[in-house]
Amino acid sequence: MNPKLVFWVPATLRLGLVLLGGAVFWWMSGPVTGLAFALLVTIGLLASQLMYLHKLGEWLDDPQSGKLPDGWGAWTEVFARLYRLRRDDERHQAELAEWLARFRQAMQLLPEGVAIMDDVLFLEWCNPAAERHLGLTLERDKGRRVTNLIRHPEFIDYIILGRYEQPLTLAIRGRKLVVQIIPFENRRQILVTHDATETERIEAMRRDFIANASHELRTPLTVIVGFLEIALADPGLDEKTRTAHLELMTEQAGRMQRLIEDMLTLSRLESDEYPLKRERIEMRALVEQIASDARALSNGRHEVEVAVDGPDVMGNADELRSAFGNLASNAVRYTPAGGHIKLSWTRGPNDLRFEVADDGIGIDEQHISRLTERFYRVDKSRSRETQGTGLGLAIVKHVLLRHGGKLAIRSVAGKGSVFTASLPNTTLPG
Ligand code: ADP
Repeated sequence: MNPKLVFWVPATLRLGLVLLGGAVFWWMSGPVTGLAFALLVTIGLLASQLMYLHKLGEWLDDPQSGKLPDGWGAWTEVFARLYRLRRDDERHQAELAEWLARFRQAMQLLPEGVAIMDDVLFLEWCNPAAERHLGLTLERDKGRRVTNLIRHPEFIDYIILGRYEQPLTLAIRGRKLVVQIIPFENRRQILVTHDATETERIEAMRRDFIANASHELRTPLTVIVGFLEIALADPGLDEKTRTAHLELMTEQAGRMQRLIEDMLTLSRLESDEYPLKRERIEMRALVEQIASDARALSNGRHEVEVAVDGPDVMGNADELRSAFGNLASNAVRYTPAGGHIKLSWTRGPNDLRFEVADDGIGIDEQHISRLTERFYRVDKSRSRETQGTGLGLAIVKHVLLRHGGKLAIRSVAGKGSVFTASLPNTTLPG
C-alpha cells in the first residue's frame, strides 16, 4: 500500500464502520440508540488512541532501552516505523563507532603529529606523534592554550601573524619540526607537525658533499688553469720548464680523474639501480692480486706478507677487489718506508675476514669513528701527497654493507693499524 495511505485508510475505514454501526442502530432501534452506539464506540477508540499516545510518550523518554509496544490499527505502522528507525540508528552508531576506532588507530600510527584546537587555540585532542614532537601529554594538556604549551617566539609570531599558508620550521628539543596550522570547520584549527630532522641531516650531508667535491676538484683545476695561462702568456718557454709544467698538469688531471671515478663508484654503490650481482670469487687469487698491486705501489719500500686460509665466497668480485685493494693501498700509503704490511684472509668464529695490518703512522682514537665519512682525512696534505681522494674508506664501507658485512678499525697513533673487513657466513657458496 502507498505509505502515505497507510495511516488514513484504516482510520477512515474505522470511522466509516462507526457511522455505519450508528446508522444500523438508528434504523433498528431509533436515533437515541444509534447516537449512543456511535458515541460509545468513538469514546472507546479515543481511549485506545490515548493509551497508545501514553505508551509512545513512555517509549520516547528512553528510546534506546525501552521496548516498543505492539500497536493496533495505524499504531502498528507507527511502531513498526519507529522500530526500523531505531534499528537503523543503532546500525549507524555502530558504524560510526567502528570508523572512530579505525580513525583513532590510524592517527596513532601516523608519523605526522596532528593536534585539534578550537578557534582560540585551546587544545582539544592530539595524536601520539604530536605529543612526541611537541612534548605534550593529551591528558594533562587538554583544554590548555597551545601558545602556553609551545612557547617558542617564532611559533607565537606565526600565530599572531596568522600566515598559515606557509609552514613554519622550528627547532624543538634538538629536532627540526615543520609545523603548519590549517583552519577547518570555521571554529576549529588543526596543527600538523612533521619531524624533518632526518631529511635535514641528509640535506646537510648532500650540501657538504657537493661543497667538498667542488673544493677537491677546484684545487687541481686551479693548478692546470695556472699553467695553461703561463703557456699562453709565454709561448717561448724553455723545453725543461714546459715539460715540468706538463707533468704537473698531468698529475693534477690524474687527481681529478681518480676523484671523479671514486665519486661515480660511490654513487653506483648507493644506487638501488645496481643491485648486487653475486658470483663465486676465488679468494686466494683475489688476495694475491691485491698483494701484488700493493707491492707495485710500494715499489720495494715495504715488506708485504700474505696469509690465505679462508674459503671462497659468493659476492661481487670487482667491488670486493676495489674495497680490499683500498685497504691495502692505504696501508702502503700511510706506512713509512721500511714498514711491514700483512694481508690475511681467514675464517673467524662467526664470519670471514680480510685483514690488513701495518706498522705505519697509525690513527689517533678521536678520528677512528669518522674515517669512513666522505672526504674525512686525518692529515689532508699526506692524503693528497699519496694521491688519496678521501673517498677510499667510504667506498669500503658501502661495498661491505652491500655484502652484509662491516669494517672494524683498530689503531694506535705512531704504532700502526689493523683494518678488518668482515663478511657474513651467508656469503659462503651454498
Ligand atoms: P684517503 O684517500 O685520504 O686515503 P681514505 O678514505 O682511504 O682516504 O682514508 C681516510 C683517512 O683515513 C686517510 O686520509 C688517513 O688519514 C686515514 N687512514 C686510512 N688508512 C690508514 C692507515 N692504514 N694508516 C693510517 N691512517 C689511515
